[in-house]
Amino acid sequence: LNPLFASLPTTVFERMSGLARQHDAVNLGQGFPDGPEPIDLLEAAARALRERGNQYPPSRGLPELRTAAADFYNRFDGLALTAKNVVVTSGATEAIASALMAVVTPGDEVVIIEPAYDAYRPLIERAGGVVRAVSLAPPEWRLTAEALEAAVTPRTRVLVFNNPLNPAGRAFDVDEVEAVAAVCRRHDLIAVTDEVWERLVYDDRQHVSLAAVPGMFERTLKIGSAGKLFGLTGWKVGFLTGCGRLLEVAAKAHQYIAFSTPPHLQAAVAEGLTWSSARFADQAAALARSRDHLAEALQRQGFIVLPSEATYFLCLDLKASGVAASAVAFADRAVEEHGVAGIPVSAFMSGNAGDGVLRLCFAKPDAVLQEAARRLGRAR
Ligand code: GLN
Repeated sequence: LNPLFASLPTTVFERMSGLARQHDAVNLGQGFPDGPEPIDLLEAAARALRERGNQYPPSRGLPELRTAAADFYNRFDGLALTAKNVVVTSGATEAIASALMAVVTPGDEVVIIEPAYDAYRPLIERAGGVVRAVSLAPPEWRLTAEALEAAVTPRTRVLVFNNPLNPAGRAFDVDEVEAVAAVCRRHDLIAVTDEVWERLVYDDRQHVSLAAVPGMFERTLKIGSAGKLFGLTGWKVGFLTGCGRLLEVAAKAHQYIAFSTPPHLQAAVAEGLTWSSARFADQAAALARSRDHLAEALQRQGFIVLPSEATYFLCLDLKASGVAASAVAFADRAVEEHGVAGIPVSAFMSGNAGDGVLRLCFAKPDAVLQEAARRLGRAR
């Protein structure tokens, strides 16, 4: 057996959702919305399932979806893409895998920024790469050019950038994104930019896509997620965007990982990508209200809540709240004894900067958030 995977635990998301089911807990762990789903897209998928056939679509995706994704990124990021710049994947995690298999060769060093999504490290290592982590610290989670520079060596080839950043809820400022771009250009790095939360950015903040920074598109593979855009996480439809040989080789990796993605879901996502900008903004505004609702309910229970500028998540600073030094033990106790699940941020970090921090998903109805806060208050 491959020792890399054999030594890995079940992902923290799967484990916590399992414990939440087992203990009939309110699940603010794994990030998925719980509430009304976009009925227009469900109907589009049902229609396509009956009318469009159910055999293999082209490996790179339905032409209509590739065109819709190109138009979508041109509209929001100011890029100038055509369908040729898009490969449809079976979710963003598959896009991350395809991108990393394409760009990492054995011995390459790959810079990641922690907290980091748990898929990056095993996939980099499976490709023979060596992870160099830049660690951000709460409550600001600020990224500096100096910290990035310190992680780069002559063997560095790739930088993985997650913006907005899960679980920190950061939408990086222009100067931080430009610092990433400058490091990539200076050291001739390929950027893999995971922007799955790009339309879940709050309070008039703007998402700054690394791919749109001058001089970056040629060296960037950008990853997107229909699951996140439309609150349909189980659909597992993602995008890889890029150009030239970079995208060609990633498309080849994709051929042998997922090959293709269910066509009815692709057809529905193509329709969703034509939603008005106002509809995407309304969706984000509703999530910002949910975030505020949970934050206020938790503050009433005496918790210190870290700011969340983006994503579905906010973080509780258990250490600063005087509750627990380790969120791992607290999270286990909260789900088993008090019926509420969250994710310890240490699951995203190799160092100890996230030890006392617990991530909670706020994409839930108000009554659910209210009940979760009440239960967390009892777990204090
Ligand atoms: N991105 C999701 C989260 O952070 C998890 C995705 C998964 O479980 N594969 O909760």
